[in-house]
Amino acid sequence: MGTQRILSGMRPTGKLHLGHYTGALENWVEQQNLLLDTGERAYETCFLIADYHNLTTSLETVDIYNHSLDMLIDWLAAGIDPEKSPVFRQSQVKEHAELFLLFAMLITSARLERNPTLKEQVRDLNMESLTYGHLGYPVLQSADILLYKANVVPVGEDQIPHVEITREIARKFNNQYAHPVKGEVFAEPAPKITKFSRLVGLDGKAKMSKSLGNTIFLSDNPDDVLKKMRTAVTDTLKVRKNDPGHPEVCTVFSYHAKFSSPEQLDTIANDCRAGTLGCVDCKKLCAANISQELAPILEKRRHYEARLDEVKEILAEGEIKAKQIANATMQEVREAMQLGEIKRVTCREKPSC
Ligand code: SF4
Repeated sequence: MGTQRILSGMRPTGKLHLGHYTGALENWVEQQNLLLDTGERAYETCFLIADYHNLTTSLETVDIYNHSLDMLIDWLAAGIDPEKSPVFRQSQVKEHAELFLLFAMLITSARLERNPTLKEQVRDLNMESLTYGHLGYPVLQSADILLYKANVVPVGEDQIPHVEITREIARKFNNQYAHPVKGEVFAEPAPKITKFSRLVGLDGKAKMSKSLGNTIFLSDNPDDVLKKMRTAVTDTLKVRKNDPGHPEVCTVFSYHAKFSSPEQLDTIANDCRAGTLGCVDCKKLCAANISQELAPILEKRRHYEARLDEVKEILAEGEIKAKQIANATMQEVREAMQLGEIKRVTCREKPSC
């Protein structure tokens, strides 16, 4: 196995859309399957269904379990291999909550209030007040990462502040509790800046989001994809088929950039600008290319949808593996913090004696 471990996760929001796919899932599969020259895997990968995190911004608990299963089916359909990557729910590995509690003692509320992502969330979600749990969600994330001793965290530029909080907590813990013989419990995880390919929604105004109703789901069949594509916003100055268009401002073209071949992309851009390609035909081509990419995912999805017991078994096995790692880490943590029965280190065991 590779020497570096990656932990990534998603909140269970149910069926995933193309934004999740290009923004994360595609990348997870790539990291899972990446090999070194030696033939070893470059990374050990673990994937977390972050159901506690759902509660930090909303108390709606409706269907978290079924949403988790639905999301897991999309992960598996897109290529997450449970033999290589344990998949598990945060709430079923209780050590997440324990480590979160202990880490909460190592960081000040003032530090968390300065978190720029939190300020954005409060603004975007129109929140009037903040719960203690929401303020502390980067601490929970730190617990998620360090519980598995993940040493690489794939992030977009905007998430670097979270990794910094995780590093600070690891540092503080090590400074406070390093064992005289065994040394430090946690390595500071390094952010790995990853170019996530974010997709705008069909309305062209914002990122794809279920709540905005501007998505194409990984589970959409070709008819659904075409129907949704017809609603996509294009260049508003191209009214008739023969009007010259501006692909650089067109939502549909941004999808072509992701799902069409480079040759097709050049032809589309040239024909759009020349006014020889109409938006109706352009959208049909785009929908066909997206459906082609989704076809194997859809097929695997149907396989798992028809075998829910298999999906539950995969989750149960992932949770057993996750608990083993989490348990071992927590034993080290409890020992370092002198919580529970402690084996005293004798002078002879100390290198300095
Ligand atoms: S022809 Fe295609 S790229 Fe050009 S504006 Fe219409 S949909 Fe967009």
